[in-house]
Amino acid sequence: MSGTRLAGVPNGIGIARAVSGNNMAYIITDTCTKDELCVEACPVDCIHPKKDEPGFEEVLQLYVNPEDCIDCGACVPACPTNSIFILEELPAGLEHFAAKNADFFAGAKP
Ligand code: SF4
Repeated sequence: MSGTRLAGVPNGIGIARAVSGNNMAYIITDTCTKDELCVEACPVDCIHPKKDEPGFEEVLQLYVNPEDCIDCGACVPACPTNSIFILEELPAGLEHFAAKNADFFAGAKP
């Protein structure tokens, strides 16, 4: 479903919510360096894959599971590359990362 455009949905916010069926709040983008400081900061263990999980070496970045994220924001200051944004504040041109984060947990190739 990555890249899906829905009629009447003006931006990534609506797309992400349509994809996840949830209030997907925090999104990791492609400047992520997989250093896992966000993983350590997350209180609900919703950032994957971790170093000890399958697929870690293959992925280009980490992803937030939109079903489990509690929107606490703890991962944002932990990120050394400023790669994590609340959904509503994704910079222009990065809106598609909302779907990419959701797709990772849906089993799609991000
Ligand atoms: Fe985890 Fe909170 Fe970041 Fe969501 S906002 S990914 S719950 S640290």
